[in-house]
Amino acid sequence: MKDDTVNPTNSFKDRPATVAVSKAQEFGAKAVGCASTGNLAAAVAAHAAKAGLPCYVFIPADTEANKVLQAATYGAKILSVNGTYDETNRLAAQASEEYGWAFANINIRPYYVEGSKTLAFEVCEQLGWSTPDSIVVPTGSGALLCAIWRAFNQFNELGLIDNKRIKVTAAQPHGCSPIVSAFKSNSSDVEPIEKPNTIAKSLAIGDPGDGLYTLRAIRESGGVAESATDEEILEAIQLLAKTEGIFAEPAGGVAIAVLKKLIDLGEIAPDEKIVCCITGSGFKASESILGSVSRPLEIEPTLESLSKVIN
Ligand SMILES: *Cc1c(COP(=O)(O)O)cnc(C)c1O
Repeated sequence: MKDDTVNPTNSFKDRPATVAVSKAQEFGAKAVGCASTGNLAAAVAAHAAKAGLPCYVFIPADTEANKVLQAATYGAKILSVNGTYDETNRLAAQASEEYGWAFANINIRPYYVEGSKTLAFEVCEQLGWSTPDSIVVPTGSGALLCAIWRAFNQFNELGLIDNKRIKVTAAQPHGCSPIVSAFKSNSSDVEPIEKPNTIAKSLAIGDPGDGLYTLRAIRESGGVAESATDEEILEAIQLLAKTEGIFAEPAGGVAIAVLKKLIDLGEIAPDEKIVCCITGSGFKASESILGSVSRPLEIEPTLESLSKVIN
């Protein structure tokens, strides 16, 4: 497990956000911002706070409460847009042009995407400069998956790792899986999804910005793309928590659920060296997870009361 739940703002988005905000500062930007499904909002807000820059984050109105709370606490101005992520992203792109702000995943995206390469660099380092056979990546826009793919290729070109093919696999929620659909239908086009519907809100991007590059990376690496239903995602969150002690948000559940499915299908062999990206903390999406775990046992402060519920 590559556990990014313990990053400074509890998701992998600290990786691209820190590079984006540092570059914005270098360029003399007066303000920074982003369009976000939630985690990037918190990450850019935190890094902007440290940099002393005003921050404007654009999120869809149905973003999880704790992600909004977190970004607001760091002092960001939050624009909650009545619309899908794609509509939110379009407005943010217009705003970045209108006001000249540096938007992490829009006008300074080329720098933003570089930051996520550190995930794969760390994987190599933490495996003692060896590489996994497979890596399973929760995928929304595809930026993370492409960054991981580039990072392995660059380390390979530098001679830091063995020249071995690493299968890069995309994991998407069933309610928003345009890349999986394109992969399975052997298409070279990614057909956008109008209305994503999934508890994995950080992956609810109907029109993935890096969709075509993602497809290419999956195919060139020999990986696959697979989806998981909301129910499978919730089961996977508990499986991961109960076996590894890692509390993941639904995006991490998607990676685990897809990994399980691919092993069951024989697409990934059980003896492969597999890295699974756990990209965000369960505390980010408590409302989605709450209904699927057992309730506390309510008792009186007596041993007698306790004895009735134990066993
Ligand atoms: C943003 C995000 C992803 C996917 O990132 P993309 O680069 O858009 O594919 C995965 N997991 C979590 C928790 C995220 O916040």
